[in-house]
Parts: sequence; structure tokens; C-alpha cells
Amino acid sequence: MSNTALRQRGLKMTRIYYESDADLSVLDGQRVAVVGYGNQGRSWALNLRDSGLAVEVYTQADASRDQAAAEGFTAHDIKEASDCDVICTLIPDDVIPELPITPKPDALWVLASGYAAAFDRIDPDCDVGMVAPRMLGPEVRACYVEGIGFITALGIHKDNTGTALARTLAIGRAIGGLRQGAIEMTPRQEAVLDLAMEQLFAPAMARVSMSFVGLMAEAGIPIEAIMTELMLSGEIERNYRLLRLEGYAGQMRYHSPTSQYGQMSRADRYDGIDVAGVMREVLSEIESGKFADEWEAERNAGYPNLQRLRAEKLSPEVVAFEEDLRARLGERVRGTT
Ligand code: NDP
Repeated sequence: MSNTALRQRGLKMTRIYYESDADLSVLDGQRVAVVGYGNQGRSWALNLRDSGLAVEVYTQADASRDQAAAEGFTAHDIKEASDCDVICTLIPDDVIPELPITPKPDALWVLASGYAAAFDRIDPDCDVGMVAPRMLGPEVRACYVEGIGFITALGIHKDNTGTALARTLAIGRAIGGLRQGAIEMTPRQEAVLDLAMEQLFAPAMARVSMSFVGLMAEAGIPIEAIMTELMLSGEIERNYRLLRLEGYAGQMRYHSPTSQYGQMSRADRYDGIDVAGVMREVLSEIESGKFADEWEAERNAGYPNLQRLRAEKLSPEVVAFEEDLRARLGERVRGTT
């Protein structure tokens, strides 16, 4: 949709930052800490170093630290990150408030997700910025190496020094997160959207898939064929790729006329289903902070419900069924060529 069309509808254009909006020299002479060397941390450390920044890694003394050292980083205890000028915490969101870090007042604390700031889990006395990749941790590295970068959500939570945005943009650029565009968002907006994808969208999609599997099984279709349609063929994955590259209207020409007619003529039949009602309820728990409180209590209790849910939903029977299916159909089939 064009800017003019958006304005005519009274919609505000969101700011999108690109590499030309960021200047890496604002970080000249600054010590940059990457705290954590897991999914995001390792990729951030490698990308920041390859972009020319002086990066040091801060982790627990375990295998992660050994890996960071093996990959050429000076690795320290986490509490020593307190002396750094830029502190990127690539640590699970529920652990961030527990970190033994006391930043300097002129430091910049960079979060890779808005969660800890959005739900008041941390409030350090320094600048706080967010660069949240819309990309899985290892892919943050792969996309940087490929030169394509990735989209990020970028925003400022606190600006004590007047340099929070410039420094956050520099970090965003140095990890490869401004190449495709960084959407300006507050940490709260990012956290609400992120949790909503996990708690509203993903479970609704899972429910739709389960209804579909049940109905097709009732209709006598082999389970292997149903799972092939939903996952194993990779067709849906590739359709989504086309959706991303060419848009809904653009990709429709790759579907047969029968498919186009069937999809579009039946779409309205689902209008009456009140998916939004349940979604609104779950969203209100996110927005009120009820979910963040529940998750903090869960962590303090040693994750009993998470363990129960994993045992129920990811049971050995489910794992064995999926292993068997993948061994017989799709890319993991062995010894057939
Ligand atoms: P990981 O689960 O990969 O963990 C990262 C690091 O946290 C590891 O180095 C681990 O250390 C360390 N860690 C875990 N528990 C503790 C603890 N109690 N004390 C000290 N260190 C600890 O996290 P992610 O990389 O997935 O997530 C990091 C951040 O990035 C989060 O804010 C997340 O929301 C955000 N993010 C993640 C994305 C993803 O794709 N995973 C996507 C976008 C944002 P050790 O190895 O020593 O145990």
C-alpha cells in the first residue's frame, strides 16, 4: 500500500530504519559486551566482530565459554560486563532480571526482545535499547554471511545520554539487522506481538491443523497422505515463500483455476467463526502482565508446568510416530537412490 493510500485511510506510517540511518563510528572506542553465547549470542558476537567492533563475550564458565574462546573471543564472567559501554544480553528473557550486571550510567543495555523492559522485569539506570531480530539465532549468522541480512524490530526504552538511538542503530547495523529494514517499535509493542504470535496465532493454527487431520482421517484418507499435505511435502513452506516474495495476489497465478476458484469461493464461509474472541482473552492476559507474572512464578517454582506440558504434548509416542513417518516419507528417506 502506498504512503498516500495509507494517509488517506488515516493510518500513520511507521518509521523504518536502513543501513544509511546508522553510523558505526558512534561506537568508536566503546567496549561491547555480548552476554550469553547461545542461539543469538554466538551469532551476534561473530557478526559484531566481522563488522569491526571490539567485542568481548561474557558467559557462565561452561561449554559455551569454551566455544567462545575456541572461536577467538576473550571470555569473562558475566558480572564483569558491568564495566562495558554497550551490553547486549542474549540470555533467555526470564533469566535477564537475575543477571549480576550493574551497568555504568552512560552504558547502553541492548535487548534482543522487548519482554524484560515491556513487563518491567528490569529497570537499569542506563540507556536501554532493543534490536529484536525476526530471525532464529543461527540464521542471524547465516543471513549476515550471505549478505542478505534480516528484518528487525528496533526501539528505545530509556535514553539517559541522548545517544541511545544512535548507538542502538549502530548495533542493529553491525549484526546485519538494518539490511532489510528495522521497524521502529517500542519494546512493549514488540513483546506483545511476539507473545501474540506464540499464544494467539500458533495455537490457533495448531487447532485448525488438528481439525483438518481428524476430518480427513474420518474421510478414510491415509495419515501419511494427510501429513504429506500439511508438512512432509514442503509445499506449504514453499507457498509461504511465494507469499513473502510475490504477495497474496501475485502468487495466486501459480495455483490452478480449480484451486483458485475453490479457495476464493469458500473463504467467506469461515467468517462467522469467533477465533478473535478467544484471541482477545489471551491477548488481555499478555497486555495486563498476567502472563509475565505467571511465567515468573513458573520459573521460581522450577518449571513444573512446563515439564508437565512437555511430557503431555511431546510424549515419546508422538516422537516415535514422527520419527517413523519421516523415515518413510520425505527428505529424510534413506537408501532409495
Ligand atoms: P538461548 O536459550 O540460546 O540461551 C542463551 C544463553 O543464555 C546461553 O549462553 C546460556 O548459557 C545463557 N543462560 C541460560 N541460563 C542462564 C543463567 N541462569 N545464567 C547465565 N546465563 C544463562 O537463548 P536465545 O539466544 O534463544 O535468546 C536470547 C535472547 O534473544 C532472548 O531475549 C530472546 O527472546 C531473543 N531472541 C531469540 C530468538 C531465537 O531465535 N532464539 C529470536 C529473536 C530474539 P549456557 O550455554 O552457559 O547455559
